[in-house]
Amino acid sequence: MESIFSDLGAFGLDSDQPLDFSGQSKEEKPVKKVVTRKKTEQLVFDRKIKCPVCDHEFLSKTVKSSINRFEKTSLTLRPIYSKIDPLIYDVIQCNACGYAAQNTTFNKISERQIKTIKEQIASKFISKDEPTDYSYKTALIKNKLALYNAIVMGSKSVNKAYLCLRISWIIDGYLETIEDDKKEALTLERLNFVKNAYTGFLEAYETISFPVFGMNQPTYYYLLGVLAYELSDYSHSKRWLSKVMVAEGSHQRLKDKARDVKDLVNQKIKEEKEASSSE
Ligand SMILES: [Zn+2]
Repeated sequence: MESIFSDLGAFGLDSDQPLDFSGQSKEEKPVKKVVTRKKTEQLVFDRKIKCPVCDHEFLSKTVKSSINRFEKTSLTLRPIYSKIDPLIYDVIQCNACGYAAQNTTFNKISERQIKTIKEQIASKFISKDEPTDYSYKTALIKNKLALYNAIVMGSKSVNKAYLCLRISWIIDGYLETIEDDKKEALTLERLNFVKNAYTGFLEAYETISFPVFGMNQPTYYYLLGVLAYELSDYSHSKRWLSKVMVAEGSHQRLKDKARDVKDLVNQKIKEEKEASSSE
């Protein structure tokens, strides 16, 4: 499989940057929506951003949250909204130095991390024109750049895993908007991010304190269960989903969702048994 960062080569960055969850320092703290351009303009606004790494000032679009109603979450907990997908707008990227991070963490960067990004990203970064369009395609690149930044600045496993999960959500949205013949490669790429998210969340499990990214412990179990299901690791999937049923603080809605995934797992196991017995 191609490196997950193969399309960051155009920025002058290392396309072979490995994503490794081990050995990290633990000390540091389906509804396709068509929104026209005019409609989109009414749903977002420009926010002035100052890059904490290089002081470059630029505008970045942000969703007006007041008119975008949360509707539900997908199987892998991707939040689905009524009008526009905020995931497209979530990562802020500085086109002068290559620093990129989620909206909520963009300014939460230490002096040491700034120094590292200057040395390992900004010094190599090939600046591109400020992107004017916001789409799943551009969001995918921005999120990969955010993951690259997170790796370089030594972010915790759980942060990197969460970025991988978000990238898989972006690809979910992207897949809803492209033609069938282009879906295969993207589906494979999605699975690679699901795998990295699962590996990272597993690695982080022993060391995190809940809640993490809005998830309590039962939700974290659910997420591990559904990611294992997506990776066809049915025995682990069932084990994590069973924990959802008995965990303290587990809500009925989450238990129902876990039961739905368990049904899917059992269906898959049955199908595989049937396929192997008919061979
Ligand atoms: Zn910058």
